[in-house]
Amino acid sequence: MISEKDEDYYDSRPETPPAESCCGSGCNPCILDVQKKLLKEWEERRKNNTNVAPIKNLISQISFDTFIVSDVYKHCKDYVFVQLEYKGNRKNNRCLQMAPGQYIILCSGNLSRPYTPISWSNISLLLLVKVYPLGKFSQLLNNAKRNDEFKVRGPYGDFRYNCNSFQQIIMFSIGSGIAAVYPLAKAIVENEIEETKINFIAGFRSILCVPLKKELRNLSDYWNFTCTLHISENLISDSNQSIHGINIEKERINKQSVYNYLQSGKSETTLVLICGTDEFNRSVEQWSLENNYSHIHVFK
Ligand SMILES: Cc1cc2nc3c(=O)[nH]c(=O)nc-3n(C[C@H](O)[C@H](O)[C@H](O)COP(=O)(O)OP(=O)(O)OC[C@H]3O[C@@H](n4cnc5c(N)ncnc54)[C@H](O)[C@@H]3O)c2cc1C
Repeated sequence: MISEKDEDYYDSRPETPPAESCCGSGCNPCILDVQKKLLKEWEERRKNNTNVAPIKNLISQISFDTFIVSDVYKHCKDYVFVQLEYKGNRKNNRCLQMAPGQYIILCSGNLSRPYTPISWSNISLLLLVKVYPLGKFSQLLNNAKRNDEFKVRGPYGDFRYNCNSFQQIIMFSIGSGIAAVYPLAKAIVENEIEETKINFIAGFRSILCVPLKKELRNLSDYWNFTCTLHISENLISDSNQSIHGINIEKERINKQSVYNYLQSGKSETTLVLICGTDEFNRSVEQWSLENNYSHIHVFK
């Protein structure tokens, strides 16, 4: 017989985080709001007598865990890679579990910001961080040293993808928004049983500012991956730059280009993913709706 206390089967009440775990800097989601939501879902399950096995993740949505910086290195103009590793004993050998496109909240002192890992292992996370000259947190990460500590909670984000659920996915991103869509594109093209085609469209200021060039070039060797980079500034340094296997358009992603991409797809069997600034997200979502696309997810 299964004991009610067996950890796999006991649907435990989400713990209340101490009031001081809210850093007061307006995080989205706030740790206290997450706990309220989880508590409501738990009470609902109790009312309906439906237990669920708790997810035994290394990290939690309602408490912080300490990670240390294991590496920070410049990737390309404006971007650094930050590798974080779990510090401490892993309770019951728990592993880090995330879905592509999910994000974590990273905290240092009373500052916190969301980041979307581009890859992860059982105990580590790799972040692609755009460094802003006046950016408080991105500068903190840019200047971080090995063994510096950061607190992590998560994962958050409700996007879930089921294998072969669409014939095509069109991914529109600008700047660091590439971090949300790249892991899913990679997971799909590297999955032998996937038949979904990916049309990956990403916008940047200059070719020198394009992160993950090598990774995108590798993905473009797969039959089901097409990539177009839109470069908005006409810099002399970019004039002779090309990336094998990748299309380059010398204009920003605009209404006409989005319409062209959408009109070559079938709205019923295509998923549109969008990640960029609020204005970019709103515009691309609107243009997708105008083209009768209804399967749309905006990462925000
Ligand atoms: C769900 C989610 C996931 C995210 N994932 C990532 C990720 O994987 N990688 C990543 O690099 N970022 C990501 N971000 C953005 C990240 O959370 C921070 O907002 C970003 O690093 C800037 O923080 P900062 O403290 O350096 O800048 P702040 O101190 O908050 O801002 C200072 C100045 O920096 C500039 N700045 C900051 N943000 C922007 C912007 N978006 N566009 C233009 N100028 C800006 C402005 O000049 C601003 O005045 C994500 C955001 C969200 C909401």
